[in-house]
Amino acid sequence: MLKQTKIVATLGLVSDTKETLRAMIENGMNVARLNFSHGSYEWHGNVIKIVRELAQEMNVSVGILADLQGPRIRTTVDVPVEMKKGEIIFVSDIAKQPVDQQVGKKILLDVENIIDDIEIGNEILIEDGLMKVVVKEKSEGSLVCEVIDGGTVKNHKGVNIPDAKLKIAAITEKDERDLAFVLKEEVDFVAMSFVSSGENIEELRNRIKTILGREDSLPQIIAKIERKEAIRNLDDIISHADAVMVARGDLGIEIEGTKVAVLQKEIVRKSLQKMKPVIVATQMLDSMIVNPRPTRAEISDVTNAVVDHADAVMLSGESAGGKYPVESVRTMREIIGHTEASPFDDVTHLLKLDSSDDFKNLVKSAFDLAKNSDSSAIVLTSVSGFTARMMSHFRSAKPLFVATNNLKTYHQLSLVWGAKPYYTQEKELSKVLEEMINYRKTTGALKDGDKVIAIFGSNKDSKEKMQMVGVKTV
Ligand code: PEP
Repeated sequence: MLKQTKIVATLGLVSDTKETLRAMIENGMNVARLNFSHGSYEWHGNVIKIVRELAQEMNVSVGILADLQGPRIRTTVDVPVEMKKGEIIFVSDIAKQPVDQQVGKKILLDVENIIDDIEIGNEILIEDGLMKVVVKEKSEGSLVCEVIDGGTVKNHKGVNIPDAKLKIAAITEKDERDLAFVLKEEVDFVAMSFVSSGENIEELRNRIKTILGREDSLPQIIAKIERKEAIRNLDDIISHADAVMVARGDLGIEIEGTKVAVLQKEIVRKSLQKMKPVIVATQMLDSMIVNPRPTRAEISDVTNAVVDHADAVMLSGESAGGKYPVESVRTMREIIGHTEASPFDDVTHLLKLDSSDDFKNLVKSAFDLAKNSDSSAIVLTSVSGFTARMMSHFRSAKPLFVATNNLKTYHQLSLVWGAKPYYTQEKELSKVLEEMINYRKTTGALKDGDKVIAIFGSNKDSKEKMQMVGVKTV
């Protein structure tokens, strides 16, 4: 079964052994996600080493994605605070602290001076939005809030304040430390949490360039769309990011959960149009954290993301902390396989094709040729990954074999829909292509006499830059 949509799996304590990781790769994991909200550097470093070793041993491209925690706001309480509907409570932060005369229940937020940015009428959501208070008054050192949805507030629980214009830094001190670590580990993707604007992405990219001391071979930046503000600045964010994640967990707290599925479609379509790989994330097979089989609704959710033409679907707790990490990957693979076998593959109506772009026209002509001929596959060379991403975004039903002599690109193609990457150290691009075709013949993916549609070009540094489309019998 040819799987085109990629699988991102979050790793955790249930999925950190060589044996489990091998099974996850065999079952279709393309990208390993490390969540830097959890785990020590020793743990992360060890898992990265195992994944890299396995990928080499199994001759597959497996990307490593480091997900930075970002400016997540959390509660700070000494003892759990019980809140009842209609009750008044005081919310402050670790720099301010409510003044002693204020009698009543108090909750602190762990970001210094954050209450300055919160206005009367703003809602403060606690623990995945399970509890909600609304700001009624601003008094000295605290916000006077009315409880709308009650519950027990525990320490270190996530807080969302969707309508506030927070001046909080996009890259926290923890992110700085984590970034230094993951760049040393040469990860392929860095996911940025709670992005508000394209400027945030550029700030991170500059930081990465400074730390690495180079301008190229950078990890790709994945913008996590999870803030209300990010929805307002969606086009700007997608333009600046290298890839996008529909982070439905926090997004469903910041906006009404009932709007998330429609937003997912919009984010996927816009990313597709801009040729930015896009991941649909969170709770896809949630019940598999405890059960060996998903619910019908979860199966439908994964199917829907594949039909939306997302590049990748993601597992979170299912593969990081659940009872069935390998089965979750296998189930996702099966759903993808069955969905892709259905007649849904025409995306051209979604793409905004700019007819003045010669290169895009050239790649499109190769796609059309492949579609309308009895060819077995599309083959191309891609040094930066750009040609591969452009071809991928037409979502060809024919296999897309991509050869590269850039190791970073090889790993980053793990996230690109349909791309089957091949890596060689060979410098001459025509030889790179030949080498890959011969390799695909040894695996049985291509056989003698097969017709392929090829996009090939001269080396980047050659004087005569030329890209051509050809029909080749291998
Ligand atoms: C999300 O909120 O959906 C998400 C992917 O982010 P995280 O898992 O980092 O909270």
